[in-house]
Amino acid sequence: MASGGSVAARMECMRETSGVLVVGAGMAGLMAAGALHTAGRPVTILDKGRGLGGRMATRRWDGATFDHGAPCLSLRHPEVRRAMEACVDDGTLVGWDLGRNDSVGSLPLGDDVRAFPSTRWRGNPSMSAIAKRLASGLDVRLQTTVTSIRPSAGAWRVETDAGDAFGAEDLILTAPVPQALAWLDAGACCIDADVRARLARIEYERCLTVMAILDGPTRIPAPGMLEMDDGPVARVTDGVLKGISAVPSVTIHASHGFSAEHWDRDRVEAGRILLDEAGRWVGAAARSYQVHGWRFSQPRVMDPEPCLVVGRQPLLVLAGDAFGDGGCEGAALSGLAAAAAVLAEG
Ligand SMILES: Cc1cc2nc3c(=O)[nH]c(=O)nc-3n(C[C@H](O)[C@H](O)[C@H](O)COP(=O)(O)OP(=O)(O)OC[C@H]3O[C@@H](n4cnc5c(N)ncnc54)[C@H](O)[C@@H]3O)c2cc1C
Repeated sequence: MASGGSVAARMECMRETSGVLVVGAGMAGLMAAGALHTAGRPVTILDKGRGLGGRMATRRWDGATFDHGAPCLSLRHPEVRRAMEACVDDGTLVGWDLGRNDSVGSLPLGDDVRAFPSTRWRGNPSMSAIAKRLASGLDVRLQTTVTSIRPSAGAWRVETDAGDAFGAEDLILTAPVPQALAWLDAGACCIDADVRARLARIEYERCLTVMAILDGPTRIPAPGMLEMDDGPVARVTDGVLKGISAVPSVTIHASHGFSAEHWDRDRVEAGRILLDEAGRWVGAAARSYQVHGWRFSQPRVMDPEPCLVVGRQPLLVLAGDAFGDGGCEGAALSGLAAAAAVLAEG
C-alpha cells in the first residue's frame, strides 16, 4: 500500500500503467479488486482518503473509538458470506445480535424505538478493520484524489489533483455516482445519453453524525445500539457496549430529515442540538464532541442493476452502494458484479 508520495514517486506514477484500476477503497472497490486479484488480474486501487473503508469509517481521539459511518452490516447473500468467510473465521467480523433487549422495556425510550429482528455484524475491533483485512495483499494508493478521467489511445487516463496520471485498460469507479460523473465530465468523456440520464437519477441522503466522549455510561441497553423510526435522531450507539471504545462514548446519527434541514448550520451548534435531542438515551454529559457531515451517506434513489457498464472500448464500470441492494452488503455485491463484468470481457 502506498500514499501520494514524493515528487520522484509522482513522476514515476506518470509512467505507470495498471491492468485494472479501481477508484475507491470502500466495500465495493475492495471487493472488486479482491475478486480480480484472486482471478490473477493486475489491479490497483486509488483512494483520496488517509485510511481504507470509505463509509465504513472509524475515528479515534482521547481513548475513544467511533464507527461514525456504517455501524454494522448484514451478511444475507451467499455470495457475500463466501467472500467474507475469512473475515468471520479470523474474528475481523463478529456477530452483533441487536434483537430487542428486555431491559429496553424499563427505559423511557418511547414507541418509536424499533426492534432489530436479526443478527447483524460489526468489525472487530471497529468497522475500518474489515477494510484493512479485505485490502491485505492488494496494491492500494491512499491520499490519491482523482479529478478527471479521459479515454486515451484505447485505454483510460485517470488524473489526480497532484498532477499524476494513471493508465488503465479497464476502469471501475466506486465513488458516489455524482462524483464519478463529475470526473467523466472533467475529462470530456462522451457517455450515452440514456446511461447518463439513468445515472443522473441516483440521489443520496445526507447524514450529520455526532461523536461524543461522555463523563459516564449511557442509558443505552446492551448490546449498545438503538434505532428510531422518526424524529431528529436516527440511531444512538454506545461505544463501550459495542466493544470498540475504552472510554464512555456515544455516536449519534441524525435522521435524514434533520440532516437536510441543518446541513448548512454551524456544525458545533447542530451537534449540541442532537446531543440534547438524544439526551434521554445518552444520559451522561458530553466532555467533548465532534461532528461529521456525510454528503453522500446512503442512496435514496438507486439503480436496480448491481453495476453499470458505461463504456466497453475501453471498459468502464460504475459500481457501489447506489447499484442493486444498497448498504455495505449491496456495495459488496456491486463490487463483485463489477469484477465479473471485467473478467467477462476477457
Ligand atoms: C452514517 C451512515 C450510516 C450507515 N449505516 C449503514 C448500516 O447500518 N448498514 C449498512 O449496510 N450500510 C450503512 N451505511 C452505508 C454504507 O456505509 C455504504 O453503503 C457502503 O459503505 C458504501 O460502500 P461503497 O464502496 O459503495 O462506497 P464508499 O464507502 O463511499 O467508498 C467510495 C470510496 O471512494 C473514495 N473517493 C471518493 N472520491 C474520490 C476521489 N476524488 N478520488 C479517489 N477516491 C475517491 C472515497 O474516499 C471512498 O473510500 C451507512 C452509511 C453512513 C454514512
